[in-house]
Amino acid sequence: MEEKYNREKDREAKEKAFLRRQKAKEEKVKKEEQCRFEQQRAQEAEDIHFMKEAFRQAKKAAKLSEVPIGCVLVRDGKIVARGYNRRNTDKTTLAHAEMAVIRKASRLFGDWRLEECTLYVTLEPCPMCAGAIVQARIPRVVAGCMNPKAGCAGSVLNILDTPGLNHRVKFTKGVLEQECSELLQSFFHELRKNDKKNEK
Ligand SMILES: [Zn+2]
Repeated sequence: MEEKYNREKDREAKEKAFLRRQKAKEEKVKKEEQCRFEQQRAQEAEDIHFMKEAFRQAKKAAKLSEVPIGCVLVRDGKIVARGYNRRNTDKTTLAHAEMAVIRKASRLFGDWRLEECTLYVTLEPCPMCAGAIVQARIPRVVAGCMNPKAGCAGSVLNILDTPGLNHRVKFTKGVLEQECSELLQSFFHELRKNDKKNEK
């Protein structure tokens, strides 16, 4: 009788221990999920913060009647270079926003490698800039809106993430998408309006 009672007690204890372990496991998974979620939220907030500065740069281009595209490069949570499209002003196709930022940062660090930087740009990079980003070993690019006619982060080509190349770039799109897209649309709208005026 006593033996049966002990066996019963033993079984109960084992069951309780099992449930405790199970609960601890579930809590650990929940905590990890929460942590990932918080990290993601923090990353999103940071992306918006830096895209706002890229957007301010794009507006500088608009003031010069340049296609409004702006860019910043960030390292350790700080902006290390700013740039905007100056193609007509400087009379060279090399004056894209991303190229300006890469040039400035390379000069600042005395290194062509920009391995600890994130590049924020208001429009998906073109073939030249996507190529330069890969060459500079920039690990991550964040873009405002996509460029279906010339974008090389997935729209026309995906130079940023080509399996055969020796460097692949993480790409996040759609940060402040509407603002970036509207800025471009209103620029081209004005341009067409002025063209029509000149035709008359
Ligand atoms: Zn470009």
